Amino acid sequence: MKVHEYQARQLLADAGVPVPPGAVIESIEDAASTYKQVTRDAGTDLAVIKAQVHAGGRGKAGFVKLVRNPEDATDAARFMLSNKMVSPQTGPEGLEVKRLLVAAGVDIEKEFYLAITTDRATRRNVLIASSEGGVEIEEVAEKNPDAIMKVPLHPLVGLEAHQARTVAFRLGFVGKQVNQAVKVMLALAKVFVDKDCTIAEINPLVLTPPSQDHPDGQVLAIDAKFNFDDNATFRHKDIQAMFDPTEENPAELRAQRFGLSYIALDGNIGCLVNGAGLAMSTMDIIKHHGGEPANFLDVGGGASEEAVTEAFRIILSDDSVKGILVNIFGGIMRCDIIAQGIINAAKELGFKIPLVVRLEGSNVDAGRKLLEDAASDLPTLQAATDLTDAAKKVVAAVG
Ligand code: GDP
Ligand code: MG
Repeated sequence: MKVHEYQARQLLADAGVPVPPGAVIESIEDAASTYKQVTRDAGTDLAVIKAQVHAGGRGKAGFVKLVRNPEDATDAARFMLSNKMVSPQTGPEGLEVKRLLVAAGVDIEKEFYLAITTDRATRRNVLIASSEGGVEIEEVAEKNPDAIMKVPLHPLVGLEAHQARTVAFRLGFVGKQVNQAVKVMLALAKVFVDKDCTIAEINPLVLTPPSQDHPDGQVLAIDAKFNFDDNATFRHKDIQAMFDPTEENPAELRAQRFGLSYIALDGNIGCLVNGAGLAMSTMDIIKHHGGEPANFLDVGGGASEEAVTEAFRIILSDDSVKGILVNIFGGIMRCDIIAQGIINAAKELGFKIPLVVRLEGSNVDAGRKLLEDAASDLPTLQAATDLTDAAKKVVAAVG
């Protein structure tokens, strides 16, 4: 599960990480007054207007803007709320922006990168840090990987203070900055574990220039990205409350409600499969025979007739779907249930497009019989004998 930056900033602030204050707005009209309030409270004229979407790369896309007066704040808000944001993380169609964070701006001496995630290779959580933080971090990772430190964390002890101090020194922090940076790292590591994160990232963590109040500068988090393990959100009511359904694909949300794993893709062949592995191999074989899958859909082992009907509804609601391949291996899921789901969907929605069905396993004969008996509802149905046959038939049918 993903959350917005403003929510991630709140989690950081709650954990004791210094974060510049801000407020969220949803309309252009609120930009000027919120700019005034945020900057007055922070005692600066600099504010930053930031699109709140579940994707990064906002800075480069023009959706993070520094402003120094209410008029510029309004212009930035107008631009962000009336244009779709396109970044390497959004896909070419871009994302609509519905919310903006108006945060107090800070002067930056240097930008750092800090994150905790799980490293599958070492099967440990790992602290990742770099003194080359900011919007170019992907490029740094690619061209200059030595500039990125990776510190494995003990599975039980987590990040230890001495490790954090070593990292702080290696990042180049000096004087009072060191303890500030250590505090941030320890807090980030604590949030990561306490909230069952899959990633907790601060980019950039910044050092501000020396000032009268802070002769060594301040270490602040000015952007944060947290993702959470979906299997653990049940034990975090506070994280669940941060869920924003408007950022999700509506078809994927509907599928979730019925216990279906569905991911929309770009192709035109809808797939209904049981088992994630079978779904992957079905998509592979469609591609192998020159087709493009329109989705990944695993109805799972225990799907009900209702869930299967819903699965067809979801596939058929995608206008780009020109044919459907049903590939069911009846193990826990019986073939007759799938057949009944196909028939129900046909009665309700009608299959005007080609439908290729390959059933095998439990109750396969009963399933086939149901389909034969319902032939008048299923004029476009073709039965396939095996996976290759099925893939060839559906690719030819949409061709
Ligand atoms: P992202 O591009 O989606 O990761 O958005 P960020 O919040 O990381 O902002 C992108 C860049 O904008 C940062 O790396 C900074 O260089 C700049 N930026 C963001 N907030 C401030 C601020 O308060 N002051 C200054 N001077 N720059 C900022
Ligand atoms: Mg960032």
